[in-house]
Amino acid sequence: MSARPLLNRRLDGMGTTIFAEMSALAVRTGSINLGQGFPDIDGPSEIAEAAARAVVEGRGNQYPPGPGIPELRTAVAEHQQRFYGLDHDPDTEVLVTAGATEAIAAAMLALLEPGDEVIALEPFYDSYAACIAMAGARRVPLTLHAPDFRPDLDRLRSLITPRTRILLLNSPHNPTGTVLDKAELSAIAALAVEHDLLVVSDEVYEHLVFAGSHHPIAALPGMRERTVTISSAGKTFSFTGWKVGWVTGSRELVTAVRTAKQFLTYVASGPFQYAVAEALALPGTYYEAFRTDLQAKRDLLATGLRDAGFTVYEPQGTYFITTDIARLAPGVDALTFCRTLPEKCGVVAVPNSVFYDHPEAGRTQVRFAFCKRPDVLTEAAERLQRL
Ligand code: PMP
Ligand code: GLN
Repeated sequence: MSARPLLNRRLDGMGTTIFAEMSALAVRTGSINLGQGFPDIDGPSEIAEAAARAVVEGRGNQYPPGPGIPELRTAVAEHQQRFYGLDHDPDTEVLVTAGATEAIAAAMLALLEPGDEVIALEPFYDSYAACIAMAGARRVPLTLHAPDFRPDLDRLRSLITPRTRILLLNSPHNPTGTVLDKAELSAIAALAVEHDLLVVSDEVYEHLVFAGSHHPIAALPGMRERTVTISSAGKTFSFTGWKVGWVTGSRELVTAVRTAKQFLTYVASGPFQYAVAEALALPGTYYEAFRTDLQAKRDLLATGLRDAGFTVYEPQGTYFITTDIARLAPGVDALTFCRTLPEKCGVVAVPNSVFYDHPEAGRTQVRFAFCKRPDVLTEAAERLQRL
């Protein structure tokens, strides 16, 4: 073997994702897992049955079409029209992907040249850093600071250089729960137009908004032709294992992303695509009940965390609560705190510090997922009181 390191330098130091590490820790210690974000109740049974029916009836068991089955592309286009008034041609402006994860990877690989810069909201969702690196580009953080986690738009302007190619947005934002408001989105859009930048907008938590409402940046003037919008079924329908995601945008942008995507998975999740097409057409009552239920869970866990001594930053969206542990555990950093939490009280959480380029910025921030049954959240809160 040569002495040369095996791992590509671009992925150096990326290790195992924090979600995998913390979920494995939860299994090993039998802890309540409020780390990795996945619900402990599956989505609607009629949608699960639709997936089972597709398998048994032989729909999607062989390679589906590269861009996704027409039924799902149409359902995605109808969803964008129904909720946001956005018009997309299902044949050329919608692409089905293996979750939002693949959509992010394909977008970065398709749209970036080595040396390009991507400005992204920090703390970043972990795959952003990896995908930007794999594309040979450079990430430039626009840091959201506690307690409000709002973007500093003057700072954003100052970060734009001639190498800037993409503004990578995520609203509702994981892990802080920030939902960008219309004024912020308009200011960001104006900068994108002024500097001729592309926007990649990760909207996987679009239906998990408790304060204000979700606005796709693609709907703002001048943005349709420069925005790649990404979402997926995992969060909205509580089937995170199905990995059905999608991209919407102009024909040119979708074609570019499809070109990279076809050499990643080519296609995925055949039968689940049929089920997700049905899920997207569920009535407004489904979306409303889902949101109300999650909001109650957010409030339940927020109260428990406050009672246990955490500083709680109330999220406007997503299913995560970011907390600060400085008062509760003086001098302890978030990663150490999370690695020792299971032995102390049988709960797993995620350290936000790993989502920052300068871990110091999130040194004492810890994220808890609240997409769990109320009895599980209550039990977790009781365990955390022992701290
Ligand atoms: N983006 C964000 C912000 C996420 O939190 C996640 C994780 N659920 C994803 C993308 C990946 O979504 P998917 O499971 O559909 O690949
Ligand atoms: N998005 C999920 C979270 O933030 C994790 C998904 C994953 O493990 N890649 O917890």
